[in-house]
Amino acid sequence: MNELQREIAVCRHCADHLPHGPRPVVQFSATARLLIIGQAPGSKVHESGVPWDDASGERLREWTGLDAAQFYDPAQVALMPMGFCYPGKGESGDLPPRRECAPLWHERVLEVLPAERLTLLVGTYAQAHYLPGARKLSMTARIERWRDFLPGMIPLPHPSWRSTLWMRKNPWFEAELVPALREAVARRLAGR
Ligand code: SF4
Repeated sequence: MNELQREIAVCRHCADHLPHGPRPVVQFSATARLLIIGQAPGSKVHESGVPWDDASGERLREWTGLDAAQFYDPAQVALMPMGFCYPGKGESGDLPPRRECAPLWHERVLEVLPAERLTLLVGTYAQAHYLPGARKLSMTARIERWRDFLPGMIPLPHPSWRSTLWMRKNPWFEAELVPALREAVARRLAGR
């Protein structure tokens, strides 16, 4: 573990706002050519300490064409949520990622990663942060324009159970975006 990873592991910056306490869940290394920026760990991931260790993670691996061995290899894949710790539950599901987290850590993690990387922006929080020009668009309109953000980034819906309903209404996602996503991921991991 390098110095930055050690610093993140003991972060308590917003501990007073985390009902279950801090447990940063993040994976990266200096060779990871694929970066996946998600939302924040849920309760299951908070328990296990393993990122995307839930049904959403299974769906994300299916979309990207990655098996678990590749997905959890920090030499290939960096997993960096907008908030590194589980924010707890609100009235309608999990609370948003803690807003202190990304400004505190993201730039420092990005400095470690290779410049030639593919970034998947998973869900509204990651897209609002990294595609500020697209903020005014609805989530569907943003993702429909995925070609505009290539070759560096691809926006994706959050792969929760809700995404299955969304995919039914937006068949272009599985017909066009998913095959292109798999190809872009495979090419970038192969160093092309
Ligand atoms: S959410 Fe981020 S800023 Fe807050 S304690 Fe966890 S790692 Fe630190």
